[in-house]
Amino acid sequence: MEKIIYLDNAATTKPFAEIEKIYTDCVKDFYNPSAVYSLGVSVRRRIDDARSEICKCLHAEHGNIIFTASATEADNLALSLFKPRANNALAVFIGEHPAVYQKAKAFETAGAKVIYLPANSDGAVDEISKHIDSTTGFVSVMHVSNETGSINNLSLVVKAVKKINPRAIVHSDGVQAFGKIPVNLRELGVDMYTISAHKIYGPKGIGALWVKNGINVNPLIFGGGQEKAIRSGTENVAGILSLAYCAQKVTSDLDKNFNKVSGYRKELISQLEQNKVEFEVNGNGSPYILNLTFNGIRGEVLLHSLEKYGIYISTGSACSSKKPDNRMLKAMGKTDKQIQGTIRISFSPYEEYDIKNIAKIIAQEVKDLQFKIKGK
Ligand code: PLP
Repeated sequence: MEKIIYLDNAATTKPFAEIEKIYTDCVKDFYNPSAVYSLGVSVRRRIDDARSEICKCLHAEHGNIIFTASATEADNLALSLFKPRANNALAVFIGEHPAVYQKAKAFETAGAKVIYLPANSDGAVDEISKHIDSTTGFVSVMHVSNETGSINNLSLVVKAVKKINPRAIVHSDGVQAFGKIPVNLRELGVDMYTISAHKIYGPKGIGALWVKNGINVNPLIFGGGQEKAIRSGTENVAGILSLAYCAQKVTSDLDKNFNKVSGYRKELISQLEQNKVEFEVNGNGSPYILNLTFNGIRGEVLLHSLEKYGIYISTGSACSSKKPDNRMLKAMGKTDKQIQGTIRISFSPYEEYDIKNIAKIIAQEVKDLQFKIKGK
């Protein structure tokens, strides 16, 4: 079989080898963490240690973690704190992942006032104070865009929001930020923050919402009272321990990984230029994501033509690939034609890439597609 050159790490990542051992250990040590005998208590202790480890990695010991089955669930849980009523508006960034955006749409359909915060041409949220007022009670702005890698300056967002309404709650979806760029929740000042294990080399089906002390989240699932009665149900112990393992590893490798993927990103841009193919880079922020527009081609066709070389990329966010949703690029001022010609390449620092060869193949395929379209 052709070697797989996986460049879709913003969609999901290859789990660390150690995850398998965490799972087999949990099969052996299968006891219910709610059991009061010592075997159960020791599992409970491991969950509690995982919780504090993740808080430490987020520099967020002034709050706590609620484990969920995904970041999508954590985002939904966060937004459930918004109370739709007169004089209480919800503001969300236009480029949010559907986990936030569709929840906001549901509030809007039910009659709530929802403000969609526009993006600037770099893909970051526009100056927030121009768009909200003292009736804005809840704001959600993602840390890093899953499409363009654009980084939002969260501490500026929090300061601007709290100046206008000190009681407003600020949530951020940190799925594409945590473990990739420095995240210090004490400095950023947000009230809630979402993370996901499968974006940081962990398993699917485990996410978490960090909540600052003093903020009361509404119960999402009623039952036996696990997760402080916010999300009842016997815990996904293997998932939780894996998330903590990954959180610890990616934060300790942060600088080394950042430099490595920055090198990949820079080299790919420079090699594409050397191969004399015209393109535009959309957004400028996280080195983990490179969003490119080629003129006169369809990104989807390019994606499939690269598959024959074992190169796997994306045209946008994996979650919306079945239902094209171009909010982010549109908000950045891209035309429909440009959006059609856009691809997303996302790197892993735990992989070795032959960037020169990848650039050569991409450039050749782009030129072939442009030639075919011109010839029609
Ligand atoms: N938020 C962002 C920014 C994402 O990139 C994703 C996944 O693509 C999610 C939320 C959803 O994460 P999960 O797959 O854990 O539900």
